[in-house]
Formats: sequence, structure tokens, C-alpha cells
Amino acid sequence: MASSPAALGKAPRSAPDTAVSSGPSPAVMGTYARQDIVFVKGEGCWLTADNGARYLDFGSGVAVNALGHAHPQLVASLKAQAEKLWHTSNLYRVEGQEDVAAKLTRLTFADKVFFCNSGAEACEGAIKVARRYQFVSGQPHRQRIIAFRGAFHGRTLATLAAAGNEKYLEGFGPTADGFDHVDLNDIDAVEAAIGPETAAIMLEPIQGEGGVRAATPDFIKAVRDLCDKNGLLLILDEVQTGMGRTGKLFAHEWAGITPDVMAIAKGFGGGFPVGAVLATEEAAKGMTPGTHGSTFGGNPLGMAVASTVVDIVSEPDFLEAVRSKTLHLKQGLEGLKDQHADLVEEVRGVGLLMGLKLKAQITPAQVVKAANEEKLLLVGAGDNCVRVLPPLIATDQDIAEGLMALSRALTRIARETS
Ligand SMILES: *Cc1c(COP(=O)(O)O)cnc(C)c1O
Repeated sequence: MASSPAALGKAPRSAPDTAVSSGPSPAVMGTYARQDIVFVKGEGCWLTADNGARYLDFGSGVAVNALGHAHPQLVASLKAQAEKLWHTSNLYRVEGQEDVAAKLTRLTFADKVFFCNSGAEACEGAIKVARRYQFVSGQPHRQRIIAFRGAFHGRTLATLAAAGNEKYLEGFGPTADGFDHVDLNDIDAVEAAIGPETAAIMLEPIQGEGGVRAATPDFIKAVRDLCDKNGLLLILDEVQTGMGRTGKLFAHEWAGITPDVMAIAKGFGGGFPVGAVLATEEAAKGMTPGTHGSTFGGNPLGMAVASTVVDIVSEPDFLEAVRSKTLHLKQGLEGLKDQHADLVEEVRGVGLLMGLKLKAQITPAQVVKAANEEKLLLVGAGDNCVRVLPPLIATDQDIAEGLMALSRALTRIARETS
């Protein structure tokens, strides 16, 4: 009998296992190198595992849980909406979208907001807005986007092509065309890459996944100038840097410029999956009915939560508090670097998007593992960096505890590697 793909390698079905999980299930596609920890509850900066162990969460679900876990106002907003209405589709007006869009346009450069569900979808949308803008401006040949080596814009085929990371593209067929890559903070390279087909420049103010590598404010300003001189749109990917993560509502505020298009997600929903593309009226002029869409985008549940996140995070006092915590965290990390100069090369980052660039002899995975043993959660990144991303609501006490746990973790590694 010829074996159909379905028959190949399918193990016989065993009796349903109702017992408590004793290890990772093989039924979940193995796309992640997961830590073998199951969390069952969260509160503020703390997570509780199924064995009762409590962890200090300085990863925030990769910069997502901006307001920590189970924030009472977010829980209340979600519950209230859940009892009223979950979904209607974008065939109709959605009150929550109009509410959140009004807030975002009041608080930012943007005049128009498109809602979606993730960072990759927001970046894809931003690319489409930029190309479409050139198309309706009588420049249909302007389709190419200049992007930066070390960037991360998500895992869809176009956003992978945008970032150009060979490791993530391997084995996934033809790479989407239309992206040119240059080095971060090399303004001459950006200028040289601009051609008659360039539509836009796409930039993360700080490369998060790439290893907390910041574009300098001068570089961001110079990129803005090049866009203006050459009729290009500036797309900022603030999926990770946005929503107060750097101590400003959006990281570009530190550089004193505004983009034409911006992608946001991660902290925007505080743990509920929402994203958005923000644009000026001019940049969004091609986005007419039928040009873009998303079934779940701007769903009432997501909008109810995002609306509350935006209210809380955009409060000047809240952002001021983030900036003062930042000082505490940064000083503490600098202290750890001095103490462990053989392990830590550099402290990087802005606000609560901090990174430790490690010496070549240790890996981010080693630090993440040692920190886990000290009941502290951190997140690895590229460029041999480990990210420290506390929830924005972390107290000085939480930060002090995190620094102590990290100090113990580094001491543990120093002992093991000496
Ligand atoms: C996480 C991230 C994305 C992708 O977001 P997803 O929600 O995983 O699709 C895009 N850009 C940046 C800067 C990110 O940090």
C-alpha cells in the first residue's frame, strides 16, 4: 500500500492522558526552545509555577506585560467587555476602535490607525501603507524598503525578508523581494542605498531581539532628514520600544522626530494580542476601502484592554516613574558589570528595555538558566545579549530583588566556569 503523507510516521493514538503533565507535550509543534516551567498564575511582577515556585518576571512575556500580570484595571476592562460583546468583524463600526484610535491620534504624530493582532502583522501593514502611498502618489516604481542588519520585524514571509536574517529565512523558499539592508547607525550607507525605487526606510529605534542595540538620536534625526529630502516615508517599528518601555510613550520622542508610519504591538495590549499601524493622514492616503484588512483586528475585547493600557501608560506621572526606576535599574546593572567584569561586557538600553552584552565565553542561555535557578526570568537576545525587561509597574523593591537575584546568578556562573 502506498503510504499517504497522513499515514507516514503517525504514532498509534494512545489512551487520553488525563494526569497532570509530566513533561512537554510532543503534540505542540516544536518551534520553540522552551524552559520546562509551567506558570499557572501571575500577579504584578510575580509568576507562580505549577509546583508553587514564585518567579520575578523580568522578561514581561518579551516586553508584553507592560502592566505586569492580572492588573486589576485590565482584568476589569476585559471582563466588562466579555459580558457585552466579543466580535462583530470589520463589516461594521467598532466602538472600541474609534475610542483607541482617538486616544492614539491625540497622543502621537498619527492621524490614522489600523488595528491588527500582532507585531508582525503591524509591520506588514506598515510596509503596505508605505508602498501604497508611493503608488497613489504617482510613484508606483517606488517599492523598495531600506532596513537594517540585526533588525527583527516578525516571522511572516515579508517581515523576515525585511529583517534579512538568514537563519530565520533558511528553508522557507524564495525570500520576498523589495528590501535593501544596511548597517545600523551608518548614515552614509543609508544615503548610498537610496535609489529611484526606494519607497521607505524601516527602523527600530532600539533593536530589541537583535541585542538591545540603539539607533543613536542623531542617526534617527539624519534618517528623518534623508526621508524628507528624498520623498521617502519613515517607518518606525516600535513593537518592542513603544508603550512606555523606554520611559517615553514612544522611543522616537527621545530623538525629537516623528515617523510617517509606525508599527506597535507587544505592550499595547498588556498581554492581550493587539497591534496597530499608525500613520499620518498623508502617509495613509492610499489605504482606501478594500486595500487592507484583518478579521480579528480591532476586536472589541482587544480594544477594551488596549484602551485601558493606553490610559494608564500615557499618564505623565506613570512615564516619569518609569524613568526614575530606570535609573535605579541601570545603576544596579552597571554595578553588576563592575562586579562581574569577566562575564559582562556592557550595559545597554534605554528605560526598562535593558540588556547585558556578555563576554564571548558565556551565552545568553547560560545566564537565563542561572537566573531561572534564582527564580528570576530574563530573555535572551541576539549579539550575545540578555534582556532585562521588567514590567513598567515594577517597584523599586522589585528592581532591588531582581538585581540581587541576577547578582547571585552571575556569581553561580562565575563559580561554574572558573
Ligand atoms: C516582537 C517584535 C515583532 C514581532 O511581533 P509578533 O507579535 O511576534 O509578531 C516585530 N518587531 C519588533 C521590533 C519586535 O520586537
